[in-house]
Amino acid sequence: MNCVIKSVKNFLNNICEFVFPSSCPLCGARVSVHGELCPDCWCAFNWISNPKCCKCGYPFPANLDLGAHPMCPTCAAGNCELDLIRSACVYDDASRGAMLPFKHGGRIKYGRFMSRAMIWALRDTDIRPDVVMPVPLAYLRLCRRSYNQATILARPIARAYGVRLDLNSVRRKYRPNMGHKSSRERAENIRGVFSVRTPDTVRGKKILLVDDVMTSGATFAELRRVLMHSGASAVYGVTFCRVVHAI
Ligand SMILES: [Zn+2]
Ligand SMILES: [Zn+2]
Repeated sequence: MNCVIKSVKNFLNNICEFVFPSSCPLCGARVSVHGELCPDCWCAFNWISNPKCCKCGYPFPANLDLGAHPMCPTCAAGNCELDLIRSACVYDDASRGAMLPFKHGGRIKYGRFMSRAMIWALRDTDIRPDVVMPVPLAYLRLCRRSYNQATILARPIARAYGVRLDLNSVRRKYRPNMGHKSSRERAENIRGVFSVRTPDTVRGKKILLVDDVMTSGATFAELRRVLMHSGASAVYGVTFCRVVHAI
């Protein structure tokens, strides 16, 4: 019976592919897998691979031989914002060019290749989250934008881990945009914006946070603070891209 359903599914997929051929979400070139990037667009991104910090995923120059578990100075000093962080690519012209329309321009379809890249970025970790939680948006911002870009990225990641997507445990207060502030100003501005509404759904849980970009890590650090305060047992994070400062 399963075999028959599979064959029918394949047949219908082939018809759909013939009528609506898959195209690269960024440039429109023909691709073989729906929602995936064409080779040219794929190569424009600065994907993070090894060597990288085994804790926060900070990318080191490719020609360095740092052993099996290299660690950046921040993590070596025990100051990583979370228990583990991974990002798919570096924040640069290419990732900004995809992320801004995804976040502010309604290009939700970009979420497919972005979330796949994030799942790929987590491949070399052995984390086993109990829940996946998109970084919450303030209600006012959610009303203006009509969607939380982090939720769009988080849904396929929760599916990949086979765990629950938690959209309700944490609430975020509205604060004006953090734009071009320094790391310290960001940390001060974010302090106290998150509150755990339902500690029971957080207590004892290993939580994987999802966001589109990591700038200073202040958002992750503040979320971790309130989640741990409510009894979470571990807090990890994954983003599509991250700002990489020289260390
Ligand atoms: Zn393309
Ligand atoms: Zn690190």
